[in-house]
Amino acid sequence: MKYISTRGQTAHKPFSEVLLMGLAPDGGLMLPEAYPQISGETLQKWRGLSYPDLAFEIMSLFVTDIPADDLRGIIERTYTEAAFGSKAVTPVRTLSDGIKIQALSNGPTLAFKDMAMQFLGNAFEYVLNKEGKQLNILGATSGDTGSAAEYALRGKKGVHVFMLSPEGKMSSFQRAQMFSLQDENIHNIAVEGMFDDCQDIVKAVQNDAGFKEQYKIGTVNSINWGRIVAQVVYYFAGYFNATTSNEQKVSFCVPSGNFGNICAGHIARQMGLPIHRLIVATNENDVLDEFFKTGRYLPRGSEHTYVTSSPSMDISKASNFERFIFDLMDRDAAEIETLWAEVAAGKGFDLGFTLEKARRQYGFASGKSTHADRLATIKAVYEQDGELLDPHTADGIKVAREIREPGETIVCLETALAAKFEATIHEAVGNIAVPRPARLENLETLPQRVQVVPNNAENVKNIIRKTLGA
Ligand SMILES: *Cc1c(COP(=O)(O)O)cnc(C)c1O
Repeated sequence: MKYISTRGQTAHKPFSEVLLMGLAPDGGLMLPEAYPQISGETLQKWRGLSYPDLAFEIMSLFVTDIPADDLRGIIERTYTEAAFGSKAVTPVRTLSDGIKIQALSNGPTLAFKDMAMQFLGNAFEYVLNKEGKQLNILGATSGDTGSAAEYALRGKKGVHVFMLSPEGKMSSFQRAQMFSLQDENIHNIAVEGMFDDCQDIVKAVQNDAGFKEQYKIGTVNSINWGRIVAQVVYYFAGYFNATTSNEQKVSFCVPSGNFGNICAGHIARQMGLPIHRLIVATNENDVLDEFFKTGRYLPRGSEHTYVTSSPSMDISKASNFERFIFDLMDRDAAEIETLWAEVAAGKGFDLGFTLEKARRQYGFASGKSTHADRLATIKAVYEQDGELLDPHTADGIKVAREIREPGETIVCLETALAAKFEATIHEAVGNIAVPRPARLENLETLPQRVQVVPNNAENVKNIIRKTLGA
């Protein structure tokens, strides 16, 4: 299996190389040159496999340059009951109205990003060790991504993580989650500024080619192909869990921001998994809902991005969307160049003529929620089913309830646990105790490690120089 860029100007590459890449050199995103096709017979054989065994079967179709036993080892170290809280890893449950929920949030940081990031941590360690390389991850986070990356890479050989966050802007839970890590290769840097300032510093460091080269600076953002491929697995697991035979079809409803999660669903569907619809759920930041309703993709700047109660979806330029549009445009790389030149110019594009194709051939549908919708959904589910949803998952449930067709089985992906968003839960249902996994009971009282720096790239570079000693 070789990988190609959506812009068509990058030499074909094997998985191990793509794993450590961000954007392709031509500015595009990497994708398999063709999606593996799963026959009915194979699908039948896979039904009933354990999560790690299923992950091995699926991932070995995409990862052809790592010996099978090594890949199996990476996967078995990753998808354990200890890390994900159950043998099923992503168990599916059913609400009283028949909507199903697939739990993807029982990993170390209580958000679905662990599903991919935990794999990435082990895969990075393996590839770096094999090639005798070092990698220093520099990232900016407003919460979820940073902690998932730190928990995935803590204690890993050959890797340091420098994670910038806006000082005083994360919740006390999120701060404690990241800053309580005592591993020597994890470096929390709180910047006196906003999230955008942190991102600007990351860009400034990345743009210093000499520094980047000398200190082997890399990233683990949502365009990383290794994350997408790990996510493909749980669509198969969810499908098997929600059905008794391969004659049945299932729809997935996915709380979306950067289009990374649902992009993996699109790939699973292209491989032949019997998915009826892929439902994109957004919050008030609804560029994706707008696309699937009108065909117009009009990314917005940060000044037009709302701060909402589902903060991990506060995204107005979906970094993985190019992967889907590439398929939608029959993999015409020149066309993608043209469309993204429009995006770069701040204009966006109108693909209204493809709307029917996106719906019929690719199964896409969409919906959105407001803050009031999410509160009402959290309250209703609490009253009807006695369970607490996090605001991102609530967004998906709201949309699924709204657009469900008669007889349609919808699996909503649970992307975080309520414990991470106590304030919103209290707003929805009053001051009740929000349950937390026992291991996190005293999280906020643990000692914390963080360096606070003025909003300036040079300070961050100095920390990197000092830590890596050169
Ligand atoms: C990252 C995240 C999302 C959005 O996922 P994308 O892959 O960016 O579409 C939704 N919910 C939660 C809790 C997240 O952390």
